[in-house]
Amino acid sequence: MSTTAHLPTAPLRARAEIDLAALRANVRALRAHAPGAALMAVVKSEAYGHGAVPCARAAVAAGATWLGTATPEEALVLRASGAVPADVRILCWLWTPGGPWREAVEAGIDVSLSGMWALREVTAAARLAGAPARVQLKADTGLGRNGCPPGRDWEELVGAALRAEREGLVRITGLWSHFACADEPGHPSVAAQLALFREMVAYAEDRGARPEVRHIANSPATLTLPEAHFDLVRPGIALYGVSPSPELGTPADFGLRPVMTLSASLALVKQVPGGHGVSYGHHYTTPGETTLGLVPLGYADGIPRHASGAGPVLIGGKWRTVAGRVAMDQFVVDLGGDEPAPGEQAVLFGPGDRGEPTAEDWAQAAGTIAYEIVTRIGTRVPRVYVNEDPHEGARPAHGDAGR
Ligand SMILES: *Cc1c(COP(=O)(O)O)cnc(C)c1O
Repeated sequence: MSTTAHLPTAPLRARAEIDLAALRANVRALRAHAPGAALMAVVKSEAYGHGAVPCARAAVAAGATWLGTATPEEALVLRASGAVPADVRILCWLWTPGGPWREAVEAGIDVSLSGMWALREVTAAARLAGAPARVQLKADTGLGRNGCPPGRDWEELVGAALRAEREGLVRITGLWSHFACADEPGHPSVAAQLALFREMVAYAEDRGARPEVRHIANSPATLTLPEAHFDLVRPGIALYGVSPSPELGTPADFGLRPVMTLSASLALVKQVPGGHGVSYGHHYTTPGETTLGLVPLGYADGIPRHASGAGPVLIGGKWRTVAGRVAMDQFVVDLGGDEPAPGEQAVLFGPGDRGEPTAEDWAQAAGTIAYEIVTRIGTRVPRVYVNEDPHEGARPAHGDAGR
């Protein structure tokens, strides 16, 4: 990911400012929501667009003892970066046949298995590496996505994993699952998944599994469902200060603060007559004589084209709206006669407490969820890290647990 650290005042075309103090505070708030559990910071997909290495480092400084990624490649890059101490565990869960099993075993990464093919590949890798693989068995308790189904499939996977453990090829470090509807408290699937998870865990433990961690809680379950915390919680979006769902509450309701502020410098301000078409397709026509501002960000930067005519932007203390279509690299706002200087800051979203819109506002404008808004901000937008703790790189895993 393109980063420009320590240049917070450089006149960039656009920037995504990442407030690492907010991230650390969010980690501490989440640990307070789940005081009995360890915290895995989910940093997949470049920490939801915020930058995996700096965010992993900050999360660990604030007390995360595990990191989670989707792909093994993400996990290997994190481990190789040396960003976090070697005793910080990294779990990755989205494997396909032929994946880098041996590299993962040698790097001491915990790997998730959802089926027999994966157990066969990881035990072969463990033989080649001459070291046991750390594996976590994933149960499909009702999400209907990844994970091993209950019944015969689970019995077969658990039995084979325990045999491999007795042969010294694997160590079963975790039993885990994932919710379908944790962001809808009271949804009947939540209780059903919890009950089945307990059953599937009990089956494996009765057969002799001794996992270090049992876990099922994503952000919404971490925030609202204490009975789902078990040994470890796995928040992603909440780390970045975004609410998992507006129906659940605002970030502030949960003691969270948005980490990313996306802004750009106006590239042009000009006067135009009434009746002037704006951007491709002329889906906006100026209602009268006015001024237009050009914002140099487009769908190639992750600004949703679905927010054409709808996305909000703070310029000179006023909310403006995307006029016409979002193009690949730029969009236009109607400034209603105001004439800010070129270079004036246009803030697309941020924490919201300086009057700017939030990622949730953009999600509503584009008919999507705030996860997609922050995650899709492209690599052409430099991340500018602020409030980095100077000791973060060198800090031991549990360095500021008491702060
Ligand atoms: C992405 C992900 C998470 C984190 O989910 P949030 O809703 O962002 O908290 C947790 N577990 C798994 C398996 C995931 O894929």
